[in-house]
Amino acid sequence: MTQTKQIAIVGAGVAGLTAAYELRQAGHEVTIYEAAPEVGGLAAGFKAPHWDWTLEKFYHHWFQGDKHILGLIERLGWSDQVVFPRPYTVVYFKDKFYPLDSYGEAFKFTLGNFGPVNLVRFGLVGVFLKLTPNWQALEKHTADAWMRRYVGDSVYDALWRPMLVGKFGEENLDVVNMAWMWARIKARTTRLGTFKGGFQAFLDKLADVIRSQGVEIRLRTPVTRISQDDAGRLTVTTSMGSETYDAVISTSSPALMERLMPDLPDSYAGRLRSLKSMGAVVLVISIRQQLTEYYWHNLPKDAGFPFLAMVEHTNFIDPEHYGGDHILYCGDYLEPDHEYFKLSKEELLERFLPALKRFNPDFDRTWVKDTWLWKTAYAQPVPPVNHSKNIPPIRTPVPGLYFASMSQVYPWDRGTNYAVEIGQKAATQVMEDFGA
Ligand SMILES: Cc1cc2nc3c(=O)[nH]c(=O)nc-3n(C[C@H](O)[C@H](O)[C@H](O)COP(=O)(O)OP(=O)(O)OC[C@H]3O[C@@H](n4cnc5c(N)ncnc54)[C@H](O)[C@@H]3O)c2cc1C
Repeated sequence: MTQTKQIAIVGAGVAGLTAAYELRQAGHEVTIYEAAPEVGGLAAGFKAPHWDWTLEKFYHHWFQGDKHILGLIERLGWSDQVVFPRPYTVVYFKDKFYPLDSYGEAFKFTLGNFGPVNLVRFGLVGVFLKLTPNWQALEKHTADAWMRRYVGDSVYDALWRPMLVGKFGEENLDVVNMAWMWARIKARTTRLGTFKGGFQAFLDKLADVIRSQGVEIRLRTPVTRISQDDAGRLTVTTSMGSETYDAVISTSSPALMERLMPDLPDSYAGRLRSLKSMGAVVLVISIRQQLTEYYWHNLPKDAGFPFLAMVEHTNFIDPEHYGGDHILYCGDYLEPDHEYFKLSKEELLERFLPALKRFNPDFDRTWVKDTWLWKTAYAQPVPPVNHSKNIPPIRTPVPGLYFASMSQVYPWDRGTNYAVEIGQKAATQVMEDFGA
């Protein structure tokens, strides 16, 4: 018979909630410590008083192939609450926006702007990347060098370079590997999904289920230290005191993991330290009327926009769920020392407003109803060449201590789908180690 173990989880994001669900299903006693006042982590949402649905702080959607999270939702019996509309993604090129998120549109754009030879190269590269499972061969090259070589300078400079520079900055062009690009192309679908009520509605429902099964979720309770006693038990310390567990899963950032457990062996701490990531700053603006007809606008850094992406969320989800407000996200991935991290929402709005006229010349600042500013220092892992050798395993060298973060879902790019997968893997490893 399985012996019940006491397990602590640091973080009530998607990974932490999923791990808790799986461990509780197997009969273990689980306590989740969460620093924030709500569950959800990076996928959490917020709600203005007159909205019916929550809105993600950072733009979020699912792809149709997101089998881990859609599978979990199916197990919970909530698939009827997932919707997959077909919003449009556009790319800015020579002062115009082009919808490029389907093969037909991408081929038309490439043929029209770069001719038949480039179209053939582009098509062959697209088919190869969709079909090949061999990301290991691709991670040996930078995305910059590989894509330039195979799609050619003109198509690369128009479509792919701006995406890489936007996400990771010029300084990381000779760092980011081709497996990252492979994973992006492989996972993408034209239909994009959400949960009725927003991601927070899903996360709250999941939290309610695991609470009803006996998991304790302690909100507003940041863990300050994880330590191990001579008997091998792990102690979790917060401002409320210390408690001892058989196992601890931390779902924090790598930097925080190192701070939480200063006694981590050097070999593992060094691997945590070598993981690089970008932060994100996103200004959410509610406006009185529709700005554009598209959902996602990819903007090249050299086109002079003060942000990387402008996402008109209400071209994905009906504005009726937001009391008739139209919602814009203006977001960028940035090094954590970028000045945007220090600016207030009023200061950022002043910088961003003039750019909104470039999407619609009729835009006027009287359209603006409200703004919200969200920032995170840990938003997007940066995967260098041969990255698979650097990833710290979920099982740390400290018996009973597990680490499961966005930085370990490689070769996949971060996403809630992979947070579910890594949460499940961490739970499985805990159970394997306890012979359960
Ligand atoms: C700008 C942006 C856009 C994104 N877009 C998408 C998208 O479109 N689709 C998608 O699926 N995914 C998207 N993601 C990624 C997705 O949000 C993450 O992959 C996922 O939420 C990670 O979940 P997690 O549980 O691993 O980590 P997190 O969500 O980071 O959860 C970690 C939790 O730990 C808590 N914590 C940290 N320190 C402590 C402490 N000391 N004590 C207690 N608790 C602590 C945090 O408060 C947090 O709740 C996006 C992310 C960003 C930043």
